[in-house]
Amino acid sequence: MHSRELSRHLPSSKRDYLCASLRATLDGMIHLPDYDEEGEGLPDLPISHERFMRMALAEAQQALEEEEVPVGAVIVQGSRVIASAHNQREQLKDPTAHAEMIAITQAAESLGDWRLEGCTLYVTLEPCIMCSGAILQARVPIVVYGATDPKAGAVNTLFHLLNDNRLNHRCQIVPGVHAGPCGEILTRFFQAQRRLGKK
Ligand SMILES: [Zn+2]
Repeated sequence: MHSRELSRHLPSSKRDYLCASLRATLDGMIHLPDYDEEGEGLPDLPISHERFMRMALAEAQQALEEEEVPVGAVIVQGSRVIASAHNQREQLKDPTAHAEMIAITQAAESLGDWRLEGCTLYVTLEPCIMCSGAILQARVPIVVYGATDPKAGAVNTLFHLLNDNRLNHRCQIVPGVHAGPCGEILTRFFQAQRRLGKK
């Protein structure tokens, strides 16, 4: 487990990274009052799924720039962002390096607990079987996703893993938040890949 964590591209200072990532997203897309590095100045706004999905979309954009399949994920506890990640499968040569998996590892480290109590996971694409498994293992209470995945979606499309009564945990699911842009960034990526003859 240790070597696996080392293999993640976790920044040396996660807090700096998260704050920078958050700030970049906020600067580019939405306007909120200034807040300090601890996030203490963040206004106690009602939870906006759209707002956090825009942050996940910014992560997907980052993945696109790194020539990874553009999927981004953010984990929030209350109004505090505790994890922000994107798909890094190619860079890490790791089939488990999906955005949600990396975000869950970051969030567990941030909380010092494998149970992500009170957390909401935002991800731009419907989670796959592996990520749904990790979501269940981490007991994530709420999962919000953008685009559906007709080929691998394990939440509503091919399977309903997050709401299976035979399992010991079920999630509240909010599908289709910013589904348009979440899907478009993937479409753009795969069109470009085809043009380059990569897929
Ligand atoms: Zn996955």
